[in-house]
Amino acid sequence: MPSSIRPTATVGVCEKSKRRKWSEAICPWLTTSGPVTSSQPVRRQFPINVSIILILALVSVSPQAQERKLRVVVFSGHPDDPMWGAAGLMAILTRNGHEVISAYATCFRDDRKIGGEQEGVVRRREATASCKAVGATPKFFDYAHEKLVADAETLKAVGSWLEEVKPDVVVTHWPIDTHPNHHVASSLVWQCYKPRSGWNLYFYELGRQTLGFRPDLYLDIEAVIAIKKRGLDCHRESLLAVSSKDPDEPWRRIEEMQRRRGAECGVARAEAYALVEAKAGCPLLPVPFIEKQR
Ligand SMILES: [Zn+2]
Repeated sequence: MPSSIRPTATVGVCEKSKRRKWSEAICPWLTTSGPVTSSQPVRRQFPINVSIILILALVSVSPQAQERKLRVVVFSGHPDDPMWGAAGLMAILTRNGHEVISAYATCFRDDRKIGGEQEGVVRRREATASCKAVGATPKFFDYAHEKLVADAETLKAVGSWLEEVKPDVVVTHWPIDTHPNHHVASSLVWQCYKPRSGWNLYFYELGRQTLGFRPDLYLDIEAVIAIKKRGLDCHRESLLAVSSKDPDEPWRRIEEMQRRRGAECGVARAEAYALVEAKAGCPLLPVPFIEKQR
């Protein structure tokens, strides 16, 4: 992703939040236009009343217009993964004008076929459709399921891509997961994480395969639930072929998870996330997270 198309707005607003992590965050995009000395003739040409009008115009811009649009990478093992635990977030972000790139570490196993087609062809097609449903852009890495490992070569490929994309936030699998591809995808992102600068890192869950997940952030996804369902439905062919013969089972399991998370925070349905830390100088996800009810 060329850096030349990155948003360059320079004014933003930190949302007030009850959470300590939010209050510790710094809005890095609050900048000034640089020093202006009295020797600059252009400044003297502005009469005082014009300067006042310009200042009033600047301060009257709405908070929505001031918010810098972010680039968020959701990095997953498989094409359907984000439809389980992160599609609501993706839909809310893109609805608010933020850019979401959905990256997939692997799309196929060996030479397995689905409906006579190579699995990779089917899964890429499905992922492209589900990304369209939630407003995201797909990115496919070309590793086979059984060959995905967090070795030096793969780490270099993922790290180079992240450096090129320059995300503001990355969201990936909670690292303790029974599926090795989820575990490796999370490990690859984690090894690219820097304690300072770079991007903030969040984890998402995938239901039964995610173990020991302790979310501290909940997102009400009721407003985008139809979009999330539509995104999952795009993966119907591959899920029926490699996951479950019951076409309703995936959504039923997702519903169990998001309704349980919703009950934990007082809404109908929610997705749950964990933030590693709120790094100074790095934006947080610009969504209204809610806390777990005690
Ligand atoms: Zn998966």
